[in-house]
Amino acid sequence: MSKHIFVTGGVVSSLGKGLTSASIGTILERRGLRVRMQKLDPYINVDPGTMSPFQHGEVYVLDDGSETDLDLGHYERFTNSPLSRESNYTSGRIYSRVIQKEREGKYLGKTVQVVPHITDEIKAAVRGLSGPDVDVVITELGGTVGDIEGLPFFEAIRQIPLDIGRENCLFIHLTLVPYLKAAKELKTKPTQHSVQQLREIGIQPDILIVRTERELGRENADKIALFCNLEKRAVIEEKDKEFSIYEVPVGLVEYGLDKLILEKLHLQAGPSAMEDWEDLVTRIKNPKHEVNIAVVGKYIEHRDAYKSIYEALDHAGFAHSTRVIVKRIEAELLERQEAASALAGIDGILVPGGFGHRGIEGKIQAVRFAREQNVPYFGICLGMQVAVIEYARHQIGLDDANSTEFEGDTPHPVICLLEEQRTVDSKGGTMRLGAQPCLLKEGSLISAVYKRSEISERHRHRYEFNPEYRQRFEAGGLSLCGSSPSGKLVEAIEIPKHPWFVAVQFHPEFKSKPNRPHPLFYGFIEAALKRHQSRM
Ligand code: GLN
Repeated sequence: MSKHIFVTGGVVSSLGKGLTSASIGTILERRGLRVRMQKLDPYINVDPGTMSPFQHGEVYVLDDGSETDLDLGHYERFTNSPLSRESNYTSGRIYSRVIQKEREGKYLGKTVQVVPHITDEIKAAVRGLSGPDVDVVITELGGTVGDIEGLPFFEAIRQIPLDIGRENCLFIHLTLVPYLKAAKELKTKPTQHSVQQLREIGIQPDILIVRTERELGRENADKIALFCNLEKRAVIEEKDKEFSIYEVPVGLVEYGLDKLILEKLHLQAGPSAMEDWEDLVTRIKNPKHEVNIAVVGKYIEHRDAYKSIYEALDHAGFAHSTRVIVKRIEAELLERQEAASALAGIDGILVPGGFGHRGIEGKIQAVRFAREQNVPYFGICLGMQVAVIEYARHQIGLDDANSTEFEGDTPHPVICLLEEQRTVDSKGGTMRLGAQPCLLKEGSLISAVYKRSEISERHRHRYEFNPEYRQRFEAGGLSLCGSSPSGKLVEAIEIPKHPWFVAVQFHPEFKSKPNRPHPLFYGFIEAALKRHQSRM
C-alpha cells in the first residue's frame, strides 16, 4: 500500500509550499522511492486555465492537455513523478463531479452534503494516486489553514488516517517565522497559532517546516516544538536560499528530513544519493560566464507569470556554466521607446506566450530589432505568431498583416483561428492543448538543436499560422521548419540567414529540467553566449 504525505501551509501564502513539496519528492526519490505528486486547490474554478496570469501566475500544461497549477511545474522539474489530470484537483472539479453524480441519481435519494459527499470525492482523488508501483503519494493543499474554502479539503485529509491507518500517513505543515526588525527578533507566535488552528480541525502535524529569513536557532526550534506538541527534531528549518531554489532539497537532507520521513512512515529505503543534485548546486553557485536575455512580455511585473520560461533559461545557463541575467521588458514600453535603446546590451531576446492585443506592437518591435540586428531570437507560441506578423510586414511586403486575434478584419490574416476552433464558444479547456507530435525539416537549425527529426511538445493556443500564406513566406526566405505530421499546421519557423532565429508554436519550457535543459533553451543560450563573447 502507498503511504501518504500531506503538505499544508499556515501564516501566509507564497511560502514556497509547492517548492517544498517538490523538494520532499526529490529527497525521497534519491532514496530510491517511487513518488507521486498531487496538488489540491480550494478555489472554485474547475482549473486555472481561465484565470489571468496576473491572478494566478502561469498555467502549467501537461502532456494530457490538462491546464494545471504552476506548482505542478515544480513537481516535474524536481521529480520523476508522472503527472496527469489526476495530479491537480480544485473545489470546482470536485463539486462538478458530485453534482453530476447527483443528477445521475447516484446518491439514491440521499441529501448530498459537504461531509461526507464532497469529502469522499476529495479522498477518492487522493487515494486514486496510490497503487502497487507507488511508495509515497505527496499531496499538497493549496491556500493556508483557516481559509473558508479550504475546510472540506482539511476535513478530507483528517479522515484519511482513519481509513488507512495513522502509521501510513504523515502531516507536514509549513509556516513562516518572521523577523521583526524593530524587535530584532524572530517571532514564533504566528506559527504557534497556525498549528493551533490545524489541531482544532483535528490534525496534529508530525513535522513542521519553518521558513525563515534568518537562522532559526535551537532555542526557537525547541520552543516551537513545545508549543506545537512536536518532537524537537521534527521542527525543520528552511532558510531562504541565497542562490537558487534548487538548493532546497540539499538543505532539507542536511536537516535530516528524509530520514525522519522514512522513520515516521515505517519505510525501508536505500541511502541518500544526492550527488547529482549537489553537483548541480555547485555549478549554479560557480558560473563562469554570463548573458543578458530580454524577455519581452505583458505580464512582466508578475513574478510567476512566465515561471517555467525563467526556470528553463536558468537550466540552460547551468549547463553552459552561465549566469542568465533576465531583463524583463514590458512590451508596451517598446511602443514608446526605441527598441535600440531599450534592448541595448542584450544578447538574446525571448517573446513568450500570451493572449490579447495589449503590447503586441511592442513585441513586433522586439522581433524586428532581433531580426535586423542579428540578435538571437526565441519565440514561444505568441512569440512565434508575432514573428510571423513581423516577417510578413517587413520582409514580404504585407504591410497590414496581423493575427485575427488582434484585428478581426485584417486584410492579411497571416495568423488565424485553427479550423477546430471556429465553432468553439466555451473558454474552459477548449484550446488546442497538450502533447502533439511535430516533424522537423531535414537540415534545419531546429533539427540540429534537437538532434532529431520527430518531436513531441505541449501546446496551448487557439490561433495558428495561416496555411494560405505558406508559399509567400517560403519564397520570402522564412523556413517553415516544423509541421504537424499531416503537414497541415506550421509548428516552427526559422530564418536561415540569421545566426539564431527560431520560433515555435508550442511550449518547450514545460519540459525543461534543471539537470536536463530543453534543447531549444540550450541552443538559445549557446547562441546568446556567442554573441556576448563577441561583444566583449
Ligand atoms: N493567443 C495566441 C493563441 O491563442 C497565443 C497563445 C499562447 O501564446 N499560448 O493562439
